[in-house]
Amino acid sequence: MMNNKRYYTFNRFLKEKLSVKVRKVSVTAGFTCPNRDGKVGYGGCTYCHNPGFTPPGSDGRKSIRAQVEEAKLRLRDGGFRGKFLAYFQAYSNTYAPVNTLRMLYDEALYDDDVVGLAIGTRPDCVPNEVLLLLEEYAEKHHVWVEYGLQSANDKTLKYINRAHDYARFEDAVKRTQNRGIYICAHIILGLPGEDEAQMYKTVDRLSQLGIDGIKIHHLQVVKGTVLEEQYHNGEVGVFSIEDYVSLICNVIERISPRMVIHRLIGDIRDDLLVAPRWTISKGEIISCIDKELKRRDCYQGIGYQG
Ligand code: SF4
Repeated sequence: MMNNKRYYTFNRFLKEKLSVKVRKVSVTAGFTCPNRDGKVGYGGCTYCHNPGFTPPGSDGRKSIRAQVEEAKLRLRDGGFRGKFLAYFQAYSNTYAPVNTLRMLYDEALYDDDVVGLAIGTRPDCVPNEVLLLLEEYAEKHHVWVEYGLQSANDKTLKYINRAHDYARFEDAVKRTQNRGIYICAHIILGLPGEDEAQMYKTVDRLSQLGIDGIKIHHLQVVKGTVLEEQYHNGEVGVFSIEDYVSLICNVIERISPRMVIHRLIGDIRDDLLVAPRWTISKGEIISCIDKELKRRDCYQGIGYQG
């Protein structure tokens, strides 16, 4: 067991690595996405509605520095005395020429309280020159690259219009490894057409890949997406709390004990969420997960297929 949690939390990882409490602050840098502007596709992933994934306050119309400063002040007012990671979250945050990226990342690292970067992007958006740039930052800062994958099943990736396959993700991971950059993969549990066996296969493949972290979301239907149409047509279902708690515990058991779990459930702005409309808070669901792991007397990695 790890502290009072039965899985390796991101908070614990940061405390171990940086010896200080660290919070991520989201910034919106005005990027777009090659799966929206036609470079690799149009329309984007079927579940994607970026404002739904962007916390209030990370406003792309303000400068990066202003966004970080505001978030910092908010957290300081609440009594937080630790350090910060600037989280480039919305859209594909490596989708620009290297000089532009350098300018934006430098701006986020404007003071010593910002100890690093977390950069969300697509696996087909990291040419080697971008990885070289991130490697440079990783020499002095704490740097994560977060790759959207969602599933290791190519049929699913096609259905949700990701416009890349699993091999593309694996190639990005291999080119990112051994550069001092931490790698996280995002997955969604409950994607259309996937049964539990397919979800476990995704988790097992990621565990075996030697990446550092995983961020898990349950399928959430957001207003204005293709997924919303599919949901109303009855093509797509969502989890009950009970079913999700049971599934996520099975998933935690299979995750390599070395991998950090950044997140266990999705987190969409309430005003944009269509389904599932769970009646208890995120904190209460995490508590249900903790209780279920304890009831089973199991923990992360007990069923790791390494
Ligand atoms: S890759 Fe990301 S930003 Fe682009 S459409 Fe898909 S979810 Fe949206």
